[in-house]
Amino acid sequence: MRVLGIEGTAWCASAALYDAESDEIHIESDPYEPESGGIHPREAAEHMTEAIPTVIDRVLTHAEERYGPDAIDVVAFSRGPGLGPCLRTVGTAARALAGTLAVPLVGVNHMVAHLEIGRHESGFDNPVCLNASGANAHLLGYHDGRYRVLGETMDAGVGNAIDKFTRHIGWNHPGGPKVEVAAAEADPDELLELPYVVKGMDFSFSGISSAANDAYDDGVAVPGICHALQEHVFAMLTEVSERALSLTGADELVLGGGVGQNERLREMLETMCRERGATFFAPEPRLLRDNAGMIAVLGAKMAEVDDTMPIADSGVDPNFRPDDVPVTWRAGDPS
Ligand code: ATP
Repeated sequence: MRVLGIEGTAWCASAALYDAESDEIHIESDPYEPESGGIHPREAAEHMTEAIPTVIDRVLTHAEERYGPDAIDVVAFSRGPGLGPCLRTVGTAARALAGTLAVPLVGVNHMVAHLEIGRHESGFDNPVCLNASGANAHLLGYHDGRYRVLGETMDAGVGNAIDKFTRHIGWNHPGGPKVEVAAAEADPDELLELPYVVKGMDFSFSGISSAANDAYDDGVAVPGICHALQEHVFAMLTEVSERALSLTGADELVLGGGVGQNERLREMLETMCRERGATFFAPEPRLLRDNAGMIAVLGAKMAEVDDTMPIADSGVDPNFRPDDVPVTWRAGDPS
């Protein structure tokens, strides 16, 4: 089975071809990069409208060159969560393609795709997943036919919390990679104290973004703030991940989402897992950040069990939660 995946929940217009037989994932992406500040929803939507046809075209050309004229068996697209106008562009493209190619259509939850790509690449059976992305942050575990939210942010997504600080100091989106570079210039033995808020397996980032902004306004050097932001935010994520492993009894942790590209976060999670005898896995960066490869891979799993949708029911859902998704492709898996 070969699946054309289309992703476009916010900043990244992406299309991919997944060949389930060879397990090859070919991705073409065109990210939106604002000249200044964060993601402007209108500009992101305009970028999506311009970029989606181009990335799809590149993947279709690759598919035809590689596999011939009937290369696509299924079209899968990100139904949500995300920005409504971006999602609608992607939904329209997916419906048009599925109709024209006369192949089934699969609507994929973007956050479950961030999780499933880690499970797919690691070969883990039943991991806990930490999704550390721009607009979201949560811990997911499979139980009784659903991915249950074991813990989540009470306010901002983890990437957005970091980006709020970088916007304040005049850096454009994405701020996370710039914070990682700046943090490396700080004295690792000095740690600026910032709010650390964990309640059970939930956590909050709003106070830490404001405190980092205040520290900058008070003249604290940027590398020190970046170092403190990383240490606090990632320690919070590591603490709740350990609690989730302990509660579920799982001994596998996978990381998903764009913030997962950060080496310090991966190092903390790896150390925690090693110390408690668990195994940690993070996919390669191109599969961590938003990408259509993960949509195509989950699309293939869903199509294999006929979890497809009629075009008439394929509306997008900007608030699509991961625990709203019946996990049809794992029917029969022990919880
Ligand atoms: P979501 O998947 O929740 O819709 P998103 O659309 O923002 O989120 P992602 O690609 O998952 O997309 O994540 C983007 C976020 O990752 C941005 O906030 C960016 O700053 C952050 N990020 C990227 N690289 C790094 C890094 N090296 N360190 C920290 N954060 C990073």
